[in-house]
Amino acid sequence: MSDQVAHFIGGVPVAEGEVFAGHDPVTGREVRRIHEADRSVVDRAVAAARSALPGWSGLPVAERAAWMRRLADAIEERFEDLVAAEIADTGKSITQTRTLDIPRGAANFRSFAEIAAQRPEDAFHLTDVVSYTVRRPLGVVAVIVPWNLPFLLATWKIGPALVAGNTVVVKPSEHTPGSMAVLAGIAASIGLPPGVLNVVNGFGPGSTGQFLVEHPGVDAVTFTGESRTGSAIMKSVADRVKPVSFELGGKNAGVVFADADLEAAVEGGVRSVFTNGGQVCLCTERLYVERPVFGEFVARLAGRARELTFGRPRDEHTTMMPMISAEHRDKVLSYYALAKEEGAEIHAGGGVPSFGDDRDGGYYVEPTVLTGLPPGSRVNREEIFGPVCHVAPFDSEAEAVALANDSEYGLAATVWTSSLSRAHRVAQSLQAGLVWVNTWYLRDLRTPFGGVKLSGIGREGGTHSLDFYSEPTTITIKL
Ligand code: NAD
Repeated sequence: MSDQVAHFIGGVPVAEGEVFAGHDPVTGREVRRIHEADRSVVDRAVAAARSALPGWSGLPVAERAAWMRRLADAIEERFEDLVAAEIADTGKSITQTRTLDIPRGAANFRSFAEIAAQRPEDAFHLTDVVSYTVRRPLGVVAVIVPWNLPFLLATWKIGPALVAGNTVVVKPSEHTPGSMAVLAGIAASIGLPPGVLNVVNGFGPGSTGQFLVEHPGVDAVTFTGESRTGSAIMKSVADRVKPVSFELGGKNAGVVFADADLEAAVEGGVRSVFTNGGQVCLCTERLYVERPVFGEFVARLAGRARELTFGRPRDEHTTMMPMISAEHRDKVLSYYALAKEEGAEIHAGGGVPSFGDDRDGGYYVEPTVLTGLPPGSRVNREEIFGPVCHVAPFDSEAEAVALANDSEYGLAATVWTSSLSRAHRVAQSLQAGLVWVNTWYLRDLRTPFGGVKLSGIGREGGTHSLDFYSEPTTITIKL
C-alpha cells in the first residue's frame, strides 16, 4: 500500500497541498504522508461534484442502484486491501475489521440500493384533485466523518447520498484516510462517472473540513463526530441555511436488572464497553446495576476486562486495540487520573500496559472499570471515548431510569432483564435514539439511527437516509 495519500477529484488522484504525517497507533511510528486540501483543492472537488450532478441525478434510480451494487461487489473483491488500510490507520484487530468494518461498508451500498429501488413515490387522490410528490437530490453533499469506524461510517453516508442522486465530496478524518483512498481507486476501477465521488484530505477547523462545509457550492452537510464539532459546523452553515444531518457524541447508559441473565449481561457489558477500544459512539460508559447483583457484576466485568488481550492487530486473538493517537490516549488517561481525584475505586486497569517491545511507542491504555463516583462527577458526565466505564448500583426501576436519563447526551442505551414488560417499559422511558434489550450494537440497516439531546440532529438508516438526502416537491393538480 502506498504511504502517500492523495485526494480523489473528478475520477483521478490529485497529490497536491502541504503534506502531514500519519502514525501507526500500534507503534507510534510514521507510516503515511497525507496531502492537505487547501481552498483551491476543495474548490476543484466541489466543482467536479457539481459538474457530475446533472448526469448522475438524471439517471433512473435503478441505474444508480446498479452502480451501488457494482461498488459493493468491487469492495468485496478488494476486501483484503481495505482490511489492510483500515488496520494501518487504526490498529484495530483483524477479526473485527473482517467481520464488522469492511463487510458493513459493502452492505451500506447494497442495502440502500435495494431500499431506493423499491421506494414508491407518495400519491394522494381526492375526487377532483391529485397530489403527488417527487423527490429530488439535495445537490453536492459534504460528507465529514471521524476516525473510529472510518470505512463503515463513510459508506453509511455515501451509499444513500449517491443512490438518491447527489454527488459527494468526502473528508475522512486526518487520522484515517487509508480506506477512502482505496474506495476512490475502486470507484475509478469500475468506471463510476468522474466527479460523482470525490475525496479530499486534511484537518477540520481552519483547514479542509471547514473550507468544505462553508463552500457555497456545497448544498448539504452530513457529519459524524463530536458534539462540539457539530455545533461549529452548524454555525459555519447557518448563513446559507444548509440542511445538516448530525450523528454526534454519547455518554451511553446500560441498565442491568437483577432478573437478567447475568452471564449475558457481563458479556454484553464487555462488548459494549471495550469494543474498538471503547471508541464507538454507541459504547457504554455508564452502567447501572440493581443492588442484589451489583457486587458480582462488577467483579465479573473487571475480571473479563483484565483478560482482554493486547496482541498485534493481525493476531486473530487480539481483543484490545490502541487509541487512535497520542493526543487521544492522553485525553483518556487524563480521565483515568480525574477518576482517581474524584475518588473512584478502580477494579481493573487505570493505567498503561507495558510490553517491552515496539508497542510501548503505541497509544495503548488499559481497559478500566470504576465504581464509587456520584452522578454529577465529570467522569460520569463527559464523553471519554475510551475503554472505560463507571458502574453504580440502583434500587428501583424508577431510579435506574432517572440515572440513565441524567445526561446531556442521548444516543444509545442497553437494558438487561428477563421481564418482557419491564423491557418495553424501561426502553420506552429512556431518552435515547437507540435502545438495545439483552444485546448491543445489533443493527438492521432499515431502522432509524441517530441521537437525541447533544447526540445529534435527524435520523439516518433505510428510508430515513433517503429522506435526508433528497427534498420532496409536492405537485397538486386540479382535475
Ligand atoms: P471530531 O468531531 O473531532 O472530527 C470528526 C471530523 O470532523 C473529522 O474529519 C474532522 O477533521 C472534522 N472536523 C473537525 N472540526 C471541523 C470543522 N470545524 N469543520 C468541518 N469539519 C471539521 O470527531 P472525532 O474525534 O474524529 O470522532 C470521535 C467523536 O465522534 C466522538 O464524539 C464520537 O461519539 C463521535 N461519533 C458519533 C457517531 C454517531 O453515529 N453518533 C459515530 C461515531 C463517532
